[in-house]
Amino acid sequence: MSQAFLNVKSRIPPHVTLVAVSKTYGASDILPVLKLGQSAFGENRVQEAKEKWPDLRKNYPNVELHLIGPLQSNKAADAVSLFDIIQTVDREKIAIALGKEVAKQGRNLKFYVQVNIGHEPQKAGIAPEAADQFIVDCKQKYGLNVVGLMCIPPHDQDPRAYFKSLAEIATRNGLKELSMGMSGDFEIAISAGATVVRVGSAIFGARQKV
Ligand SMILES: *Cc1c(COP(=O)(O)O)cnc(C)c1O
Repeated sequence: MSQAFLNVKSRIPPHVTLVAVSKTYGASDILPVLKLGQSAFGENRVQEAKEKWPDLRKNYPNVELHLIGPLQSNKAADAVSLFDIIQTVDREKIAIALGKEVAKQGRNLKFYVQVNIGHEPQKAGIAPEAADQFIVDCKQKYGLNVVGLMCIPPHDQDPRAYFKSLAEIATRNGLKELSMGMSGDFEIAISAGATVVRVGSAIFGARQKV
């Protein structure tokens, strides 16, 4: 996986942040990537991250941990204490819970609003047409430091139009960061303006279905 990591890394321009998505993989797979200097990692479950990362971080204090999976409000306290960036703010209830925890813990996290860019009923994310108001509320009412947007486009379609519409929402809301693109489409996402790509299987290998 060191070779796979270096291969992915070489295809990403320096202004784009590579988030290595290490979900389902353990320390023996993550350590070689840490040793190569990778510092941004993504996990989709709070509990799994809590079991893995405090140990790994002891030797790699510069790690920047991104939450990229759906969050329940009863996990907000753990999420705020463990993660540096939460990419999945997608509804009022979770925004309120996160705002309270940030104030209580005094931690300086960055947040992304997740947009359900393809209007898929089974997917998380705020509806695109509700995004502008939700972004304002997250910042002004709930005190979240929102710096960008995240999306997962429908997997069986050309992602270009979806990436483009996420970029438009970010531009009109003055947000700089765009988290879009995964193993199969990160180069397309970068052409469409991604500043953050989330790459798992192209680095670590195919995951077991869970
Ligand atoms: C798992 C996951 C990824 C990485 O997917 P790959 O196709 O393995 O690169 C990216 N984003 C999210 C939200 C994920 O859950």
